[in-house]
Amino acid sequence: MTDILINLENVLRRIAAAEAEAGRETGAVTLVAVSKTFDADEIRPVIEAGQRVFGENRVQEAQGKWPALKAEWPDLELHLIGPLQSNKAKEAVALFDVIETVDREKIAAELAKEMARQGKAPRLYVQVNTGLEEQKAGIDPREAVAFVERCRTVHGLAIEGLMAIPPADENPGPHFALLEKLAREAGVEKLSMGMSGDFEIAIAFGATSVRVGSAIFGGR
Ligand SMILES: *Cc1c(COP(=O)(O)O)cnc(C)c1O
Repeated sequence: MTDILINLENVLRRIAAAEAEAGRETGAVTLVAVSKTFDADEIRPVIEAGQRVFGENRVQEAQGKWPALKAEWPDLELHLIGPLQSNKAKEAVALFDVIETVDREKIAAELAKEMARQGKAPRLYVQVNTGLEEQKAGIDPREAVAFVERCRTVHGLAIEGLMAIPPADENPGPHFALLEKLAREAGVEKLSMGMSGDFEIAIAFGATSVRVGSAIFGGR
């Protein structure tokens, strides 16, 4: 077995252990394998090993490798986890099954338009900038609940979950707790939080999916 497949098994085992530790049901947490910067040849063995859910952070990069893989494995589920520019909404709706980075009015409007035009309905998450970081995408946590509501009422978009990336240099726990609280207030069920360095903590705080890249594919 290659390193990548050993890594995948380890991550799946750690997820199961964290679910048990947190008193969560087995299988409560979905692994989103983050394959950004890795090419189709490196991704294919991971699919063959049974992994079906993947994350990419750039629309253009994903367009280069996923249409062929999706044609080969129709049950793949692809998540957009990076910032979405409104001029890429069309491509994003066409390619992704889940868009985790809805974070402003203009994107919500563009997505609604494209979803109607293409007759496609990717599942949507709102990204929340829990650390109020200047350089990071995501809506201000103080506006998140109202924004989810406007996505529903103004744009007709069903929002399924919230997503966050805590500041790299802080204890992630309070950020995960904040995201969980906002999700409850907004009435959304899914929580995308936790990466290679902190996914077990995120699971303890209620993550329903974790986005894990380097712990599976290695350094970028
Ligand atoms: C790259 C990326 C990840 C995965 O990060 P790792 O630390 O490699 O697990 C998760 N979420 C987002 C939004 C990313 O861009």
